[in-house]
Amino acid sequence: MNRIQIIGAGPAGSSAAISALLHGAPVDLIEKSKFPRHKVCGEFLSPEIVPVLQRLGVWTAFEQRKPARIERMELHFGSKPKIARLPEPAYGLSRYEYDRLLYDRAIELGAQPAQQATPDAMPRIWTAGRRGDRAESRGKRLFGFKAHFNGPAHDAVELYFFKGCYVGINCVENGITNVCGLGPERLLTSFNFEIDELVHSFAPLSARLTSLQRSMKWLNVGPLVFQNHLKQEPEPGVYSAGDALSFVDPFTGSGLLSAALTGELAGSYASQGFTSADHRKACRKALAKPFGISSLLRAVVRTQWADHLAGLIPGEWLYKLTRPRKSGECSEEDTRRQARFHKE
Ligand SMILES: Cc1cc2nc3c(=O)[nH]c(=O)nc-3n(C[C@H](O)[C@H](O)[C@H](O)COP(=O)(O)OP(=O)(O)OC[C@H]3O[C@@H](n4cnc5c(N)ncnc54)[C@H](O)[C@@H]3O)c2cc1C
Repeated sequence: MNRIQIIGAGPAGSSAAISALLHGAPVDLIEKSKFPRHKVCGEFLSPEIVPVLQRLGVWTAFEQRKPARIERMELHFGSKPKIARLPEPAYGLSRYEYDRLLYDRAIELGAQPAQQATPDAMPRIWTAGRRGDRAESRGKRLFGFKAHFNGPAHDAVELYFFKGCYVGINCVENGITNVCGLGPERLLTSFNFEIDELVHSFAPLSARLTSLQRSMKWLNVGPLVFQNHLKQEPEPGVYSAGDALSFVDPFTGSGLLSAALTGELAGSYASQGFTSADHRKACRKALAKPFGISSLLRAVVRTQWADHLAGLIPGEWLYKLTRPRKSGECSEEDTRRQARFHKE
């Protein structure tokens, strides 16, 4: 079997590596950063991630990190919060721990780590994260920020929407609270990128933060470019997964699930010799609907209508509509492919 070159060892790349190795293919895993490292992210993992982590053989290691269990969702559009119980508990685990555990598993299974890619090596899986070539105009561009806090632990994921910006709060391991947000450049510049001042400018959020003490410096990232390559791969023949395949507004908290899912599929399709077009088709099936709805919601959140609409849509619906297809299920076509593979 040819060696598979995987570029980027975040959640998508490491999941692809594990999946390819489990199918018996040798893997070179190229990562430019040193792990473990913090990353700007809400660190919210939706419950559908469980079967994927089980298939990748990291579920026990995941549980050993003692992720926070998230039972409720609170949406704060104005002064009155909208509260819903999640259909199943979600999880909170820092990217410091989550990315490391997937990467360690890939190395343990035999992935060869490297810092430099070999140009044009095939098969190639591209999982280097967002590709940013079509940013919005200055001022409208979006930037993300995140920091960890100490203080009383809550069992909810809380989302605060204000001034075209939103901030998510949820616990991760060891009772740490993650505060992560996204805002337009014009707004952030008006606060000189002083995130403490920004978050305290919205009264309900400021009140929520009074019981918490920041334990690390704010991290920033951006500009963020939303993009979708589910229909067409920019580099023919290359399997893309995770944000490199499709990056939509992160407020629905399904980016990590999509990364694990599309990464797992990329490793499996590349190692079995199925084409990158087949892989994209399988990913489209899993992601097209929830990603479309997320983009629509993002557009709504940016308008003054968000407050009124939020009053009309039940919180459970919002949550359910933005989930990928149940990740434990295989389509009939996927099942046939697996059967063909095992016969050969
Ligand atoms: C503000 C914000 C909040 C978010 N909150 C959530 C959330 O709560 N829940 C959720 O599910 N999702 C969330 N997301 C989305 C989530 O972070 C991404 O979907 C996820 O990181 C995608 O994983 P990935 O492996 O595709 O990419 P990444 O995590 O970006 O990993 C890419 C890796 O590739 C490496 N790399 C890049 N270029 C190269 C190169 N040339 N050579 C070698 N290595 C390279 C990078 O160092 C990195 O380690 C959020 C995103 C943002 C911006």
